[in-house]
Amino acid sequence: MPSFVIVDKCDGCKALDKTACQYICPNDLMVLNKETMKAYNREPELCWECYNCVKICPNQAIEVRGYADFVPLGAQVTPMRSSDSIMWTVKFRNGELKRFKFPIRTTPEGSAVPDGGWETATDDISSPLLFTEPGSLKLDSLFTLNK
Ligand code: SF4
Ligand code: SF4
Repeated sequence: MPSFVIVDKCDGCKALDKTACQYICPNDLMVLNKETMKAYNREPELCWECYNCVKICPNQAIEVRGYADFVPLGAQVTPMRSSDSIMWTVKFRNGELKRFKFPIRTTPEGSAVPDGGWETATDDISSPLLFTEPGSLKLDSLFTLNK
């Protein structure tokens, strides 16, 4: 079942240019109603149920009604992110709560090196080698066809 916004909890990301759910949706589905300052999913049938918007919303204002293989019948599943972990709270129909906490990073926040520290060169686009080759293969060079 697609994502939906709980309007009482949504504050429109306090009128930032682009809301968090708009920023994160890989299918560009979330939009902000500028009059009400509430977000909504404009094409629910196209929703991938990827949970990105659910996880990024700072107000826990988005939910996805999960299928039974993931969410127990009638239960709610709510994520809460921190800088190094995510806590999933499952609320069952009878009110029972269960919480599961998982790490979400292997390096301290802000310390990840996007290129992994491998050298890049400006003519990489014309090189037949793949990124990180030949170093990642522990070679000095690779044979390539002469033009
Ligand atoms: S991320 Fe949450 S609070 Fe921000 S606009 Fe979307 S639903 Fe509303
Ligand atoms: S669940 Fe994924 S695809 Fe659906 S609206 Fe949220 S971010 Fe977009």
